[in-house]
Amino acid sequence: MECRRVYKGSLTVEAALILPLFMTGLLTLVSSLYICLLSQKIQASLHLAAQSMAISASEGRIPDTGDARDMVADSLSDSDLKFIEDGINGLDMSGSAVDGSEYLSLVVSCSFVPFSDALGIIRVPFSRKCLTHIWTGYGRGYFAGGEYVYITKDGEVYHTDRNCSHLRLSVETTSPDEVGSLRNSSGSRYRPCEHCHAHLSDKTLFVTPDGDRYHNTITCSGLKRTVYAVRKSEVPDRRPCSRCGR
Ligand SMILES: [Zn+2]
Ligand SMILES: [Zn+2]
Repeated sequence: MECRRVYKGSLTVEAALILPLFMTGLLTLVSSLYICLLSQKIQASLHLAAQSMAISASEGRIPDTGDARDMVADSLSDSDLKFIEDGINGLDMSGSAVDGSEYLSLVVSCSFVPFSDALGIIRVPFSRKCLTHIWTGYGRGYFAGGEYVYITKDGEVYHTDRNCSHLRLSVETTSPDEVGSLRNSSGSRYRPCEHCHAHLSDKTLFVTPDGDRYHNTITCSGLKRTVYAVRKSEVPDRRPCSRCGR
């Protein structure tokens, strides 16, 4: 009888020792799974935010990383946000680059707080990046049927050949002395570009016949032309290009 009592007692002691370890292990496992799910959720919403900003950017709006952060936060539940150190404020988008070039780079960083961490000292750093080109029209096959054509934002024609020479920008160099007397293809004067902060004290300036700005660097984003692929039925007012159109 006495023996049995000792045996019972030792089982209780073992259980008291093992149970917390078992629970900690279980919570760590559940925390890890939750981190995986949350990572995927954040990645998916970052992707959607980048897509949305790529479209706004193509319409000339300057993307705001604060909007991207709100979009990511909106996709998360209250219990998800409790898992992130400082909640919404803990979503750091400062690594993003949305400066109006051809690409948008959204980066979100935060620290996860695992709920297995009873002492509140464990932080799991997390960072995801989404790089996207600004929207340039539908991909081929997006719509069944229909003929695709290529256009520029302010042009009056459509092109059937993506490589049409009229779609290429011809950049010309000029000097501060000459630029004042130059006129573009519409007969307008050239003004300084806001992107590259061109100034008449710059040595060499760059212009295009169709543009109305002068630039101080050939790599200025204002010297790039975005070509959009659209369905021909979407541009009924445009005439075919004299070189490639039909
Ligand atoms: Zn053409
Ligand atoms: Zn410029």
